[in-house]
Amino acid sequence: MMSILDLAIEEARKHNAEKIQRISLEVGAKSGVVIDALEFAFETVTRNSMADGAQLTIHFIPYRGECISCGHQFDCTEFLVCDKCGNFGKIISGQELRIESIEVD
Ligand SMILES: [Zn+2]
Repeated sequence: MMSILDLAIEEARKHNAEKIQRISLEVGAKSGVVIDALEFAFETVTRNSMADGAQLTIHFIPYRGECISCGHQFDCTEFLVCDKCGNFGKIISGQELRIESIEVD
């Protein structure tokens, strides 16, 4: 969880940024990330760094599957089962944990 934030700061450094204004992350429902904990970690990690005071924007991505049998796309709960035909599906979204964008000065 710390690593995605470290990664964002690392990325900004590469672009010779002096200050990070905003970090936008994409967080999937099945990424294992707890949003509250991420926000808390963000404050801790960024304090006294180039991202001090930066805004954190989180785009939540729902857990979705696509049926391997009929191609129907559906919202997953615990099980990856098509709500149309009952066959198994594959995950198409919800496992993301990535930096969407970083705004710097
Ligand atoms: Zn199906």
